[in-house]
Amino acid sequence: MRPYVLAETNWKAVKSTDYEVAVLPWAATEAHNYHLPYATDIIEGEAISAEAARIAWEAGAKVIVLPCIPFGVNTGQHDIRLDMNLMPSTQLHILRDLITVLDRQGIKKLVVFNSHGGNNFRTMLRQLGVEFPEMLLVETNWFKALDRDDYVEEGGDHADEVETSLVLHLRPDLVLPLQEAGDGAERQPRIKAFKEGWVWRERPWSQITESTGTGDPRKATAEKGERFFRDVTEKFAQLFIDLSKIEKDNFYE
Ligand SMILES: [Zn+2]
Repeated sequence: MRPYVLAETNWKAVKSTDYEVAVLPWAATEAHNYHLPYATDIIEGEAISAEAARIAWEAGAKVIVLPCIPFGVNTGQHDIRLDMNLMPSTQLHILRDLITVLDRQGIKKLVVFNSHGGNNFRTMLRQLGVEFPEMLLVETNWFKALDRDDYVEEGGDHADEVETSLVLHLRPDLVLPLQEAGDGAERQPRIKAFKEGWVWRERPWSQITESTGTGDPRKATAEKGERFFRDVTEKFAQLFIDLSKIEKDNFYE
């Protein structure tokens, strides 16, 4: 039983612990190329946040990881079978209800720990910050926290070499042999500005990839995943420790 994981701890422990930081992993349930499970983002979000919390807890930070929200914004994959979509407006309602609980009970710091590229919580946290002036509301994600080129050979951002390596490390029993995986080729937009990345439209995933993945996963290994996992969890552990110590009204030098 891990005392920093709410789903595993109990009233006896919770009753007498002054938690400082709540962490809310938020994932998605969606196709990940042919070879990874639909729960890939959940597996990653839960494992990374819990391991980071363990390190922080052992350093004395009172962190509590809430159960991962398994559904995310999948508007760009609405035509891909059993990709489950929550509208951003629904996410705002969920966030407001959960923040209401924390705010009322004096747990004034929340980290929304994003594990899915289609989720975007920043505008929501701007709005909720006005509604909950005592709360310190933080958004982050694990997938942009490290320089991926230090860990893998191929680019990509969905069911790619990074994600495949991570799931090979965390849940190898759920990964099909990599010869079953698609190549993750992504069709590029015809307009230069979009290709350069300074203009955005939502990607319609059924038009940009055959396999539902972007990025070639076939050089992934469990060893690469283990190294990425170790570094990313250490990085977030330090963040949780720092946040546990900081005062909202004394945040800046
Ligand atoms: Zn993913």
